Amino acid sequence: MDIKKFQDEVIRVFTIFDHLPNRRKHTGLSAVTHLMEEVGEVARQVTSEYHRPEKFDVKNLGQELADVLQFVVVIADLYKIDLSQEMSNSIKKVEDKISKF
Ligand SMILES: [Mg+2]
Repeated sequence: MDIKKFQDEVIRVFTIFDHLPNRRKHTGLSAVTHLMEEVGEVARQVTSEYHRPEKFDVKNLGQELADVLQFVVVIADLYKIDLSQEMSNSIKKVEDKISKF
């Protein structure tokens, strides 16, 4: 799935989810807070790999990374940011750095 399709699909399901009873649409602040929560869940898994290997679950790590991406998309959507374009720009910046070595 390309980034634009992924972005559209995340927003489609979040729009439905946000209209369920007792739900509110995300604001920038609530989306960033949820993003930090998901980053914490990624950190917990990565920390477990070293400190509590019996609790490390690579499948869950993948799910938490996907959760992080979902909230990145929600934030981008709130600010009308085209993540496809931004990712292209970001990759180009890395390529420019590589070319200077
Ligand atoms: Mg999660």
